[in-house]
Amino acid sequence: MPGFLLDLDGTLYNGDRPIPYAAEFIGWLRERGYPFLYLTNNSSRTPEQVALHLTATGIEASAHEVLTSAQAAAMYLKDAGLDSGPVMCIGETGLQQALQEMGLELVGEEAEQRGVTVVVQGIDRTFSYEKMFKAVRYIRAGAKYVLTNPDHLLPWNGELSPGAGSISASIERASETAPVIIGKPSPIIMRYATARLGLAPEEIWAVGDNINTDIRGGAEAKCRTALVLTGLANESNVEEQIARAGVRPELVCLHLMELAGQIG
Ligand SMILES: [Mg+2]
Repeated sequence: MPGFLLDLDGTLYNGDRPIPYAAEFIGWLRERGYPFLYLTNNSSRTPEQVALHLTATGIEASAHEVLTSAQAAAMYLKDAGLDSGPVMCIGETGLQQALQEMGLELVGEEAEQRGVTVVVQGIDRTFSYEKMFKAVRYIRAGAKYVLTNPDHLLPWNGELSPGAGSISASIERASETAPVIIGKPSPIIMRYATARLGLAPEEIWAVGDNINTDIRGGAEAKCRTALVLTGLANESNVEEQIARAGVRPELVCLHLMELAGQIG
């Protein structure tokens, strides 16, 4: 039985706008009983908020069907034994909540802290010089640097806005330390995602609109891959994007129900 790892933005919705056939595709999966997971690199929302947002765009979803890069980052800290000391969190509600639920002690922004063992960073739309300064100081003093996702640009209402990967560029430059990357295409989130589905990678379709994250992550995890032309990739740029990424998806589909038709 096939399983599915489904990207969200550009695949199931564009910002607040539903993508044609997305709701129908989820209905098709549920009808067939095919296991799936909503898999997102976005660390700003909690799984509950992701499910609410999906529901608002007409797609049935519940929090336990969601895996965010923030949750995967928290799981990674626990599994890697990086949960013994205080953690500096540069991120929004989704990341803060995921770390707290894992029982990690977060340091406040106000005080300078000793013994910070990890700096975890995602998208933070209140990022400041002060936060960069502290993160760099902790990392240079030996704290591990963990990045939720490498996306440096995000589509936003027809424009592009800087993502977590753009914030990390400044911290990486000043700390002279490359982060451990958690989100797609990292094998770390792919490992947690395939484990949640409980299927072998070759039974799993990684589905998304981003060749460099969704498709590369899927291919490197030995999953099957399907690119949908409803977000970053579209009919006019797809060949150029494939050539530039050096990764070719197994299927390229105009929309999700075309994928359903191919799988049968
Ligand atoms: Mg996407």
